[in-house]
Amino acid sequence: MHDLILTGGEIHDGFGSAPITADVAVTNGRITAVGTDLGPARRTFDTTGLVVAPGFVDAHSHSDKVPFLPDPQPFKLFQGVTTEIIGNCGFSPGPTNPAVTESGAVTLGKQEFRTFGEYLDAAEAAGPSNHLAALVGHNTVRMAVAGMELELPPGGLDRMCDLIEEAFAAGAVGFSSGLEYVPGAYADRAELIALARVARRYGGTYATHSRSESEGLADALDEAVDVARSAGIRLQYSHCKASGRAVHGSSLLILEKLAAARRSGVDAKGDQYPYQAFATDLLAMLPPAACEGGVEAMRARLSDPATRASLQAVAENPHTGMGVGLWREVHPEDVQILRHTDPAVTGRRLAQVLNGRKPWDALCDLLIADPHANTVCHTMDEGDVLSIMADPLVAIGSDGGSPVGPNHPRAFGTFPTFLGTYVRDRGVVDLPEAIRKVSSATAGQFGLTDRGWLGRGAAADLVAFDPATIGHAGTYERPDVRPTGMVHVLLDGEPVIIDGEFTGARRGRMLRSGRP
Ligand SMILES: [Zn+2]
Repeated sequence: MHDLILTGGEIHDGFGSAPITADVAVTNGRITAVGTDLGPARRTFDTTGLVVAPGFVDAHSHSDKVPFLPDPQPFKLFQGVTTEIIGNCGFSPGPTNPAVTESGAVTLGKQEFRTFGEYLDAAEAAGPSNHLAALVGHNTVRMAVAGMELELPPGGLDRMCDLIEEAFAAGAVGFSSGLEYVPGAYADRAELIALARVARRYGGTYATHSRSESEGLADALDEAVDVARSAGIRLQYSHCKASGRAVHGSSLLILEKLAAARRSGVDAKGDQYPYQAFATDLLAMLPPAACEGGVEAMRARLSDPATRASLQAVAENPHTGMGVGLWREVHPEDVQILRHTDPAVTGRRLAQVLNGRKPWDALCDLLIADPHANTVCHTMDEGDVLSIMADPLVAIGSDGGSPVGPNHPRAFGTFPTFLGTYVRDRGVVDLPEAIRKVSSATAGQFGLTDRGWLGRGAAADLVAFDPATIGHAGTYERPDVRPTGMVHVLLDGEPVIIDGEFTGARRGRMLRSGRP
């Protein structure tokens, strides 16, 4: 007797094979049979007319704090996402060092996680709504050892290696960097290679938000590939994009460099979200040097007219590529302020809040007032987004964070937007390939070998969706809209979305490397 059978669906295996019409049986959290006349089951869902596929794997997410929200959070399940790779862009909720006072460490209410393992345990106990597999972040580890200082203290690199080792022993699936953010931006290549070598010993993956996604793109990609090659580690090049008008058309350069890396023996892949705008901290506009020593030091620099001017010269220097902040890739009309303590500027474009100031001065004033402000920046060319999307080396990852407060629509709609707008309506790739890009492509890259595919023996993370209605109507103005088309979602064989409605159950787990 099976626990559950999905009958009559269009079955996709997640590897890109042509679909078949068949039933899928599930018992004890595993797929036990795919075919017809599978025998009796305790429960049956008729999936005739629906696509049945492996649960989606979000290659790039920032849901690290989501399990600690008071209510269950189905925003990813409504998109079909059953597993998210978290801890991206160099930031994970542990390890932290309370002795580093101005750390900007991730704090969750009163909780601070001294170790990565403590975080995993606490998140597991809090009860995620879908599975999470976590990377340990370079920025986080560096902050625990050196705060916001440029130079590591004596023995600092060894201490960082120990923290990375501890994280992998606790179950990290990879190591991430965010080299456009401080203090990660202060690291040289040798530091990254040393840390990636520790990750390599545990079979981890190196995911990097590289040092530039604009005019320093080529050098930044070369650095990412060099780190991976030197450490002998798989490379996940995060949120592939050519950002800023100066590099529109550079998608082919990205794709060629990824392909060339593979030809030379580096297991390089990437991910992308299907939007033309990115979202990040407003602070990332500044050259990294502006933030050395922490927030108060940054405020003092921006408040001093001479230092403010010299930082502007660095930020706007046309002769430097990577490592100078994001300022040169945005125009004031591209920058939409998403969150700021001043409600008068929230939701508006930088160009609309100048009040007679030069854009740089307005930026500095906004950051002095609120160093934690966020933005959405409309900097990508549609042709680049489409060519990156069509490439088989690139999977789909939302880059979305917590579903609370002002947001980018990617948090709520990445996967339905990809499948509806880009696959069904625009035919960028066919459906079997699209499903591969949201399932096995990422699961394999992060060592989640029993997920991301549909077949006997795989974990029964499954989705059934209506290919005619899958989509997301969210916008930059109103992102928090429930997607359409997701009918059933199973997590380890347990239905968590039934007929489009969330059951309310927190059935997610922290997926730890090397453990079932
Ligand atoms: Zn990033």
